[in-house]
Amino acid sequence: MSILSILMGGSRNEQSSAPRDDCPLCTSEGGQLIWRGAFWRVVSIVDPHIPGYVRLILNRHCAEFTELAKPEQQQFFKLMIAIETLMRDTLAPEKINIASLGNYTPHQHWHFIPRWSDDAFFPDSIWSAAHREMSQRVRATRDAQATLLFAELPKVCAKAIY
Ligand SMILES: [Zn+2]
Repeated sequence: MSILSILMGGSRNEQSSAPRDDCPLCTSEGGQLIWRGAFWRVVSIVDPHIPGYVRLILNRHCAEFTELAKPEQQQFFKLMIAIETLMRDTLAPEKINIASLGNYTPHQHWHFIPRWSDDAFFPDSIWSAAHREMSQRVRATRDAQATLLFAELPKVCAKAIY
């Protein structure tokens, strides 16, 4: 019996948490690893349209948030607040989109997407058709801000869960 199933009172379906060979988030980090905790990891996504794009990914296979153990849910909220706060401080976006889809990859992962009114997709989601190109000057500024975000995230995440 795993520690998680003990925390769950033995009610967890062990089968659902086993790594799967057909899941890209079980077989890879799912981006550039920035920080890893006991339950969650943070990766950065290289997307030329969205500097500062981050994903918060569960370390085990599990499709739905309500299937998670209480400690996993509690850490998620602490990390969500920490990531959003640091994004606001370093990137000063006009909006932060936080999304959980998982239609292609039914493994809990959350997208943290800084948004600006001059980004390629605004005001639509980043999964819609691009409306414009970001200027080189703006892009360079935001890339520098994203570098700062990625450098600070490990400290902020580690602090958030203690
Ligand atoms: Zn998986």
